[in-house]
Amino acid sequence: MEFFADWHTHSKYSDGRGTIQENAEAAMARGLSELAITDHGPANIGTGVKSGATYFEIIDEVREVSAWYPGLTLKAGAEADITGSDGSIDIPPEVRDKLDILIVGLHPYVVPASLEAVWPVVGINRLAGISRGARERARVSNTKALKEAVYRYDVDFISHPDLKMPVDVSELSAACAACDTAIEINTGHHYDKEVLVREAVKTGVNFVVCSDAHFPASVGKLQEGAAVLKKFGVPGERVLNAV
Ligand SMILES: [Zn+2]
Ligand SMILES: [Zn+2]
Repeated sequence: MEFFADWHTHSKYSDGRGTIQENAEAAMARGLSELAITDHGPANIGTGVKSGATYFEIIDEVREVSAWYPGLTLKAGAEADITGSDGSIDIPPEVRDKLDILIVGLHPYVVPASLEAVWPVVGINRLAGISRGARERARVSNTKALKEAVYRYDVDFISHPDLKMPVDVSELSAACAACDTAIEINTGHHYDKEVLVREAVKTGVNFVVCSDAHFPASVGKLQEGAAVLKKFGVPGERVLNAV
């Protein structure tokens, strides 16, 4: 399995260490023909972009840098945070309209969209480590919120499902399959990707493999994903960034 794209990388606009140009150089060095810059949404505490409007700067810079690398298609995206159990995300509509790629993911430290969202978005996940029951409640709540986001928005894929914050992979993947949203295999974090792929593959959902690179050196490091997909017999045509 050969990957031609890495659609999930961070730059200095959020918590990445590289510039957009440095990520582009790294992608070229890996032989990729597509790269997306997908910085964290503004609700991500300590790591998000300054505000929704920051994405307009990112989009301008992506278009500028893209022109310097004719062999590379550079895309402007966002890794949105879930900020409410109704599937709210932290990317304003006028920004969403201009992005090439919209990723949605759960992150532990976000500013909830409302007071009512404090418990389902943050509180319930704080307690998830305490007991099996609490973890189960967090799983139900997280899965509902992600499904709502997939139904509401044109989401390209869900980043790192089941990393740190529990989700029902089968239920989420079935909703994603129905909405033409893919499930990410994230090679930048250590978590159980085998359970993820084993459950998701049964639903017919498509996959993407992304580095979630926070350093240019990690851009395009995707081979771990190929090994997991192979182990569970996922055909190449269901991996959107592979040929
Ligand atoms: Zn993430
Ligand atoms: Zn990320």
